[in-house]
Amino acid sequence: MTTLGTPLSPSATKVMLLGSGELGKEVLIALQRLGVETIAVDRYDHAPGQQVAHHARTIAMSDPAQLKALVELERPQLVVPEIEAIATPMLEELEAAGVVRVIPTARAARLTMDREGIRRLAAETLGLPTSPYRFCDSLAELQAAIDAGIGYPCIVKPVMSSSGKGQSKIDGPAEVQKAWEVAMAGGRVSHGRVIVEGFVDFDYEITLLTVRAPGEGGQVETHFCDPIGHVQVGGDYVESWQPHPMHPAALDRARQIAKSVTDDLGGQGLFGVELFVKGEQVWFSEVSPRPHDTGLVTLVTQWQSEFELHARAILGLPVSTALRSPGASAVIYGGVDAAGIVFDGVDEALRVPNTELRLFGKPESFARRRMGVALAHDADVETARQRAKQAAARVRPRRA
Ligand code: AMP
Repeated sequence: MTTLGTPLSPSATKVMLLGSGELGKEVLIALQRLGVETIAVDRYDHAPGQQVAHHARTIAMSDPAQLKALVELERPQLVVPEIEAIATPMLEELEAAGVVRVIPTARAARLTMDREGIRRLAAETLGLPTSPYRFCDSLAELQAAIDAGIGYPCIVKPVMSSSGKGQSKIDGPAEVQKAWEVAMAGGRVSHGRVIVEGFVDFDYEITLLTVRAPGEGGQVETHFCDPIGHVQVGGDYVESWQPHPMHPAALDRARQIAKSVTDDLGGQGLFGVELFVKGEQVWFSEVSPRPHDTGLVTLVTQWQSEFELHARAILGLPVSTALRSPGASAVIYGGVDAAGIVFDGVDEALRVPNTELRLFGKPESFARRRMGVALAHDADVETARQRAKQAAARVRPRRA
């Protein structure tokens, strides 16, 4: 049985988000609607999620001492990681000591905080199909890995990175050194380790949102959302849509892979499982143990968005992954490097039928920073994609 309290009272159900970007903001809104007391943590002030939570806290989440001190001070029932760059061994300690419950589990947060833990788990422990890969600590090791079998084309990514930062494709020997340098400049922490992956010549890629939530008997059940298709540019998502049609055999395979990896990670919550598909063949790419950026589309395509699903699952409430309407999302980039920017054309954007906008409220814009998203629902995905892109293009960020 789930009992929820009253926020800002001794009975409060308290949830702490570690990372309060645009995805955390929507999770916080879903929690607020259920009367949960929320604590939004980020490394900078006025992060999107901090603007909608009961409490805003700014710390270096990668610093174990700061993280421990904050958790012990606030004493939330649940800690919900929303980003990878967190002192996850400290979360494991706090979880083992019974201080908090980490979503989905502290082990899952640790294994997915860099590319190595999750890739080794998926490929080596669970035996799931992935691209061929090697981990390398120097340019010489990278070259040797390519020569020894990874071959060309291949993709190099810093082990600690996301959203395509430091990632590049190598088509031939002349490009290896450049790719190494790009990876060294783009990683989250400069410890110089990369993964090199053989290039998978897929037909399309999907995110399969997978929810682990307790059923009526209390046992955790696995639910799948409809597949989300997406377009990536330079390793960063620019457009997504749902549902993405799939061959029934490929969909079965995708669900088996998602079930295998999420069963192993365990706990309760929503996971974004990224998969490559060619015909009936499916490869595992990555998994986020939390809502996924391509899943922003579910704000208009599902009765319960991925954020509401996450909120419900972590609180032990029933979930439904039912589709409401086909739809699409298109990213709005900052376009300029400046603080406190303004957005022209919001009215024109919303004149495109069946559209919505989310402007995240990030205090500082960068040319390639995601500042908002346009969402469209329609009778078919193609129309929704056109409309989402049209609405996104009409929003024009500029310096104030
Ligand atoms: P990632 O940061 O690993 O999610 O990669 C970002 C995007 O780069 C993916 O969504 C794919 O579009 C592309 N990508 C990554 N790895 C590979 C690969 N081994 N083969 C082909 N494309 C890839």
